[in-house]
Amino acid sequence: MPEKLRVVCPHCDATNAVPADRQPLSAKCGRCHDKLFKGVPAALDGARTRKHIRNSDLPLIIDFWAAWCGPCRAMAPIFEQAALTLEPKARFIKVDVDANPDIASEYSVQGIPALLVFKNGQVVARQAGVTDLGTLRSWAEQFRS
Ligand SMILES: [Zn+2]
Repeated sequence: MPEKLRVVCPHCDATNAVPADRQPLSAKCGRCHDKLFKGVPAALDGARTRKHIRNSDLPLIIDFWAAWCGPCRAMAPIFEQAALTLEPKARFIKVDVDANPDIASEYSVQGIPALLVFKNGQVVARQAGVTDLGTLRSWAEQFRS
């Protein structure tokens, strides 16, 4: 286990080094001073999402969705519950595929909702369709630092 975890701020995208033995839920960003974890998914665009993929030591669980997609609306409260209960084991990010088609095609997202898990810059798990809280929890446990 590394002595410090790189945690990317969901508000300003600064990479913070958080001591691994400290409770990260209380940690604040060194740049914008906001809390690094608030128990809510971070809605990011493609460019910001790439920064998180590149710089985060935490597993990232990303929900690719769109406003017109009914199953995505069913997924949304499950994903919010996951962020509330599973942070800081993982970072939960939402990407609107209509606004960000480039990153969706880069990672071959076709049907939505699509849940992708990133660890150390790589896709380590993915599932199409509504994904239950138990699966999200098992990913967070399996890939945590
Ligand atoms: Zn910040």
